[in-house]
Amino acid sequence: MNTIKRGSRGADVVTLQKILNLATDGIFGPLTEEAVREFQRGHGLAVDGIVGPKTWAALNVAPSSRAVDEIIIHYSATPEGENFTVDQIRQMHLQRGFADIGYHWYIDAHGAIFAGRSESLAGAHCTNHNTRSIGICYCGGCPPRSVSGWANIGKDTRTEAQKAALIRCIKDVKSRYPAATVHGHCEFASKPCPGFNAKEEYKNL
Ligand SMILES: [Zn+2]
Repeated sequence: MNTIKRGSRGADVVTLQKILNLATDGIFGPLTEEAVREFQRGHGLAVDGIVGPKTWAALNVAPSSRAVDEIIIHYSATPEGENFTVDQIRQMHLQRGFADIGYHWYIDAHGAIFAGRSESLAGAHCTNHNTRSIGICYCGGCPPRSVSGWANIGKDTRTEAQKAALIRCIKDVKSRYPAATVHGHCEFASKPCPGFNAKEEYKNL
């Protein structure tokens, strides 16, 4: 896909307009630009109204050629009672050298669900399982900072709002990948993440 912006015309603009449910006239005018900005704002992208590689990637939310058969649940290793925004998590992962936030979905301390990287892309959240899975992370998972060694202790810190959001998010992902099974990160790594038995809790979703 080519980078397109205000003033662009042609097939790529039609493709964009179809995805955003706009009139498909193939002309990138003010309404198309407005829709692009709204989409970028809702997906944690730079809001510039220009459709470049990152925005194209995020627009391809439809199940791709990627065969997803696992949904892996994580905690963010945030001390209980604190909140990391999706942008803070994204910055941490960028500093770690990832191309973007490692998770596909992020649930903050208030139970709000945020899109991470596009589902069409392999994640960066679980070694040897990234290409076949969707990663969902909730904010929390460790005791408060006042507990010594808190960062290495797993704790189920989910609030009722986060529990409800996790169920909504998993059901939404499963609607696109019905055969996918739900797991906790700890099943595939020697870490306490996500601090509870995700496989058991979500086996009937
Ligand atoms: Zn994890």
